[in-house]
Amino acid sequence: MPLQPFDQICPEIACKELRVCTVPATETGAPVGDYFLREFYCNELGCDCRRVLVQFMPVRGDGEVAASINFGWEKPKFYRKWSRDPDLWREMAGATLEPFAEQGSHSPHFLAIFEHCVKDPALVAVFRRHYLLVKQTLEPPPWARP
Ligand SMILES: [Zn+2]
Repeated sequence: MPLQPFDQICPEIACKELRVCTVPATETGAPVGDYFLREFYCNELGCDCRRVLVQFMPVRGDGEVAASINFGWEKPKFYRKWSRDPDLWREMAGATLEPFAEQGSHSPHFLAIFEHCVKDPALVAVFRRHYLLVKQTLEPPPWARP
């Protein structure tokens, strides 16, 4: 699953639809402030993994990553066919911290905040739409196929 930033694949839409998440003062744990949600999608042709990697980046920061979170919006059963590991597919649905990506010291708090955010179907709809856009961008139109 080679991941590419959405802002590289569809820069205009990524810029226009960049999501900002605010960590309020009442939220103990994660540093208060606004965070960009930077989306990464798999750019493998023909792969239908239906997941996103979201990085929390402080709006007033210098590019450091506060948390890297995997999110699969389909039901666990969907991922069973993608995973060779007999147990891993259960974790592919829903949100988890990505063990091989950058994490800040408060990443578990951001995971909790993210889990709360994706209860909003509108946000999940944005991920789905962006995912489809990425796949359409990668897939050459019929007349351009060899
Ligand atoms: Zn994929």
